[in-house]
Amino acid sequence: MGRAICHFCSRNGRILKYSFYLKTTPNGKDLYNLIEKLFPINRSITGDGVRETLSIISGIIPLEITEIPSGTKVLDWEIPFEWNIKDAWIKNSRGETIVDFQQSNLHVLNYSIPVNKQLNLSDLKEHLFTNPEMPDHIPYRTSYHNPNWGFCLPHNQFTNLADETYEVFIDSTLAPGSLTYGEYLIKGTTDEEVLISTHICHPSLANDNLSGIAVATFLAKQLMQSKAKYSYRFLFVPSTIGSIAWLSRNEKTVQNIKHGLVLTLLGDSSMFYYKKTRRARTEIDRIVIKVLNDLEKKHKVIDFYPYGYDERQYCSPSFNLPVGRLSRKPHGEFPEYHTSADNLDFVKPEKLEESLELISTVLEEIERQEVYLNLYPKGEPMLGKRGLFKVIGGDAQSKDLQMAILWMLNMSDGDHSMCFISELSGIDMETIQRAKELLLGVELLKKLI
Ligand code: ZN
Repeated sequence: MGRAICHFCSRNGRILKYSFYLKTTPNGKDLYNLIEKLFPINRSITGDGVRETLSIISGIIPLEITEIPSGTKVLDWEIPFEWNIKDAWIKNSRGETIVDFQQSNLHVLNYSIPVNKQLNLSDLKEHLFTNPEMPDHIPYRTSYHNPNWGFCLPHNQFTNLADETYEVFIDSTLAPGSLTYGEYLIKGTTDEEVLISTHICHPSLANDNLSGIAVATFLAKQLMQSKAKYSYRFLFVPSTIGSIAWLSRNEKTVQNIKHGLVLTLLGDSSMFYYKKTRRARTEIDRIVIKVLNDLEKKHKVIDFYPYGYDERQYCSPSFNLPVGRLSRKPHGEFPEYHTSADNLDFVKPEKLEESLELISTVLEEIERQEVYLNLYPKGEPMLGKRGLFKVIGGDAQSKDLQMAILWMLNMSDGDHSMCFISELSGIDMETIQRAKELLLGVELLKKLI
């Protein structure tokens, strides 16, 4: 099947720029400044660090904050106790602090239970975590659902620890509280939604995922001034449990989501990676790949797999939402991942800006699509009695039009735009347009978007 060139999307292979919002030039420095401000905060899946983070974002866009009490059932999960921490350290036998939470919040195993005791080196080692592949950096480790305490430190420091008595202290609380997430809905002229989701649970790590937070925040800021067809829903949620909690509270309305993106890892210098939706052949898949190609961005497309970020939840079988994931180098594939080397030097203002511009272009492209709905979707409607066979003769052009009518009827289910149908069918856009006009004329179609 040939690939149709859609004259409505492209001219000479380039995307036409129709801004549907007031174009404010994204400035990478603004995004970077937000990252700098959020970087020192100790975040987790619950706690005051998440609230402080959302409060800072609320200074830029008006977030609605939701608190879900500990113990609440959310799908197959339960909201855990809330975790907060004031201080933590390890002291050697001379009373010198050798690991200090005040120096880096990565030093503490995230969700550590409180501890205050003396112990020898071999017992201490049971609670120490390192990354030998990045021996000068502190790894980021968590223990959300398995009560434990621990410290993370550079492997080179770990191997030089003397065989002596150590004092460990973690001033944390794990107690009934709540899980917090932020949400911002920008109403469009329709109820059909585009979901932008990003995770907010990592402590001092810049690319994973302050970059995603910064891009989503400034994308929302741009869209605040828009006159868009779609409604745009921005979610700032703790990874996994946060998106599961949101889904559990919005089960009845998630089918309004027609396109979605999970944003993460968008500030480093590597190329773009797009992870397709579970359905694999949706409008968001088509458009992101098209924009990456049209803007000549170096990129790689990955098929869906059930691991990664919150796309796992949105694309779980029952929801199966058309949500893809846009990142640069994916998690686990760069040495700085989940270590203290994912710091403010690792993310670049110009890369953040490039990421924001790319996603803005994707949204513009989504907005420009026309979507129709087949009003008689049960079986093929009878075309003869509506006089539609009269337009179909024996020549090749007529044959294309006949096929275009069938394609438009079959694929106009609310999920496929005319450009998508043109691409799927290999029929040029003019013929698809003509089929649409004929079908509108006999009231077999109505415009949805
Ligand atoms: Zn991570």
